Amino acid sequence: MSTYTVIGGGIAGASIAYHLAKTGNSVTVFDRSDNGQATSASAGIICPWVSQRRNKKWYRLVQEGARYYPDFIQELEETTKQATGYKRSGAICLFKDERIQQLAYERISAKQDGSPEMGDVRKLTKAEVKEMHPHLTDSYPAVFVEGGGQIRGESLLSALKEGIHLHGGKWIQQDLNPEEEKGTVIYTAGAWAGEYYDVPLVRHQRAELLHLKLEDESHSKETPVVMGLGPMYIVGTDSNQFAIGTTHEDTEDFSIAPSRENQQYLYNEAKRYFPETTIRNQFMAVGLRPFTRDSLPYIGWTDDHVFAVNGLGSSGLTAGPVIGREVAAYLAGKDTVLNLDDYAYL
Ligand SMILES: Cc1cc2nc3c(=O)[nH]c(=O)nc-3n(C[C@H](O)[C@H](O)[C@H](O)COP(=O)(O)OP(=O)(O)OC[C@H]3O[C@@H](n4cnc5c(N)ncnc54)[C@H](O)[C@@H]3O)c2cc1C
Repeated sequence: MSTYTVIGGGIAGASIAYHLAKTGNSVTVFDRSDNGQATSASAGIICPWVSQRRNKKWYRLVQEGARYYPDFIQELEETTKQATGYKRSGAICLFKDERIQQLAYERISAKQDGSPEMGDVRKLTKAEVKEMHPHLTDSYPAVFVEGGGQIRGESLLSALKEGIHLHGGKWIQQDLNPEEEKGTVIYTAGAWAGEYYDVPLVRHQRAELLHLKLEDESHSKETPVVMGLGPMYIVGTDSNQFAIGTTHEDTEDFSIAPSRENQQYLYNEAKRYFPETTIRNQFMAVGLRPFTRDSLPYIGWTDDHVFAVNGLGSSGLTAGPVIGREVAAYLAGKDTVLNLDDYAYL
C-alpha cells in the first residue's frame, strides 16, 4: 500500500483517487472547488469517434475512455448507490447537405472495426432526424452513432467522492500548496496548475454553455446528443431542457462572469436548431478548459515526487475515468492498456 496526496478534485483527480483507493492505497484529495471548475460545467458528451482530429495518441486515449465507460459506471453506481446521469442514447451528427453527410458517414463508419462500442452507424434523412428528436430543425441530414453517450459531470464527481470514502480515502475541501507536501503528490489542478508549476505549461479556454427550457412540452422523450454544424452541440439536461454550446475563448483571465454577447450568440444558435418553439429559462454555465502543448493531455512525473495530469482539454470527461484506471495501474507497477509514455512528453 502506498500513500498519495491528490491536489485538485475535478474528473482527473477524483478518478485517479478513486482507482488508487479501490486498489488499496491510502489517498487524500484536496480540492478547493474553484468557480469555473471544468468538470461541473461540462456538457459531458462521450462520443470521440466522430471527431476529425487526427492525433493518434489523443484518439487512443479517448477511444479507450469511451470503451471503459459502461463498466466503470456500472461498478461505480453499484458501489455508491448514486446515479451519475450516464446514458447511451446515441448521437445525431448533423451535416450541411447530403454530400458532406456521405463523406462523414464513410469517415465515421471506418472507425467501427476497432471500436465495436460505437454500435450501429447509419445515415438519417432530415425526416428521420425529426422523428428521433422532434424539437430539432429538419434542415439537415445526419449520421447516427448508436454508442454515443452523455454523463453529468457534477453527479459523476459526487459518486466518485462517495466511492473514495467507501474505499477508505479522504476528501478535504481546502487549498493545498503542492510544494509543501513531502510524500507523493498527484497534481491535477486543471486551469489553475500554473499557480505552483509551469511544467507542463497549462493554458485555458473559457467555455460557455446556454441552458434552456423549451415551451413546447408535447415531446418529452429522451433524445440523443446532437453534434451540430461546426463546434456547436446540444445535450438534454432534463425533460424538455437542453444545454447548447460552446464558445472557445483563449484567455489568461479566471473570471467566469457570463458574457452577454456569447449568451446572445448561443440563443441565436438555439433558435436555429429549435425553430418551432419558444425558448425559456435561460442561464449560462461557464467553465475553464485546461490545455497543454498540442492540446494533448500530459500524464507523467514533473518532479521526483509530483505526478501531474492535466490538459484534458475538450475531452476530459471522456478520458478522465480511463486515465484514473491507467495511472493507478502504472503507479502500482502493473501493466497498463495505454502506453503512458506517450503522454509524458516533457
Ligand atoms: C463548457 C464545457 C463543456 C465541456 N464539454 C465536454 C464534453 O462534452 N465531453 C468531454 O469529454 N469533455 C468536455 N469538457 C472538458 C472537460 O470538462 C475537462 O477536460 C475536464 O473536466 C478537466 O478536468 P480537470 O480535473 O483537469 O480540471 P477541473 O475539472 O477544472 O478540476 C480542477 C480542480 O482543481 C482544483 N484546484 C486547483 N488548484 C488547487 C489547489 N492548489 N488546491 C486544491 N484544489 C485545487 C480546482 O478548484 C478544481 O476543482 C468540457 C469543458 C467545458 C468547460
